[in-house]
Amino acid sequence: MIEVTGLTKRYGRTTVVNNLTFTVRRGEIIGFLGPNGAGKSTTMNMLTGYTAPTVGTVRINGYNLLDAPEKAKTAIGYLPEIPPLYMDMTVDEYLKFVFGLKNCKFPRKEHLDEVCEVVRITHVRHRMIRNLSKGYRQRVGLAQALINDPQILILDEPTVGLDPKEIVEIRNLVRTLGQTRTVILSSHVLSEIQAICERVIIINEGNLVADALTEDLARSAAANSRYIVRIAAPEDQVVPVLSAIPGMLKVEIQGVMEPGTVDVLVEAEKDVDIRRALFETCAKRGWYILVITPVGVSLEDIFLQLVDQTSSKKDDSPLTLDGASESPAGETEKDETEEEDEGE
Ligand code: ADP
Repeated sequence: MIEVTGLTKRYGRTTVVNNLTFTVRRGEIIGFLGPNGAGKSTTMNMLTGYTAPTVGTVRINGYNLLDAPEKAKTAIGYLPEIPPLYMDMTVDEYLKFVFGLKNCKFPRKEHLDEVCEVVRITHVRHRMIRNLSKGYRQRVGLAQALINDPQILILDEPTVGLDPKEIVEIRNLVRTLGQTRTVILSSHVLSEIQAICERVIIINEGNLVADALTEDLARSAAANSRYIVRIAAPEDQVVPVLSAIPGMLKVEIQGVMEPGTVDVLVEAEKDVDIRRALFETCAKRGWYILVITPVGVSLEDIFLQLVDQTSSKKDDSPLTLDGASESPAGETEKDETEEEDEGE
């Protein structure tokens, strides 16, 4: 349904998206993940025809976006990072305006009623967009993307700047929309991708560094080398004794959950099954192991690992992973002299 081949974007001498190739099938919900400045927005702008690639092609339902832009674009609803809203219009005026822009052939009243119902903005249709909360503006942004009933939805960081309740609502909405459509959703927030997307494409510095099912990615790196162990043992001896086991990387006290015991996080070298040695060591000292719980490596760990392995600058500022602080590093870095403004 979407075929991306060798997609590359250069601004002057800087390559911001480098030779991306991937395919998105009908009905998939794909997470497009990467740290700020990785090239997510630039890629989305190319997928939607807002920006022309320097090299490479995008095909939507078989139509090349450059050769047959109208045919290709009718299949896409796009919610850019900054929704294209007119603050001085009411929601209703704005949606009618977009309906006209998209040259939509559905019966207007019924179609807009339906779209407003889906994103639950029916009760604010008469209100000025400027007076709406950020969450509602985002819903209006989604509504405009849904006009003309596109099969593909491309959503650029749809929950940025929303409060936690709004984030949950928008995520649920995206999930619902994904039941009947193909969705590509960009985010730098891992938990978001994990919660919504079945497949994840990770880019770093414009390069594709992973393309995998979300659960496979999480499972592959898990390798069961980390455990929380509850041991009936003297707290002060646990760390030195367990740290001495060959293959042990880390032993960290987690706290006391049960009187007379201590919970420790142990981490072994990859592919070392530390459980037997752990048992023997404890048995020798008469320490009882009461619980062993494997702790999988989180998607976040894998993401950081991948980004770290593929970064040219190792001393980069920390990545924003929790969505709490938004540092639009990408925007401030933009080189004014190379600014290209390619509208539709
Ligand atoms: P992301 O969406 O992953 O945060 P972007 O696609 O916005 O990343 O940006 C990727 C890189 O491309 C950044 O370093 C940014 O500064 C640069 N960039 C984006 N747009 C332009 C432009 N119009 N001119 C020059 N550089 C740009």
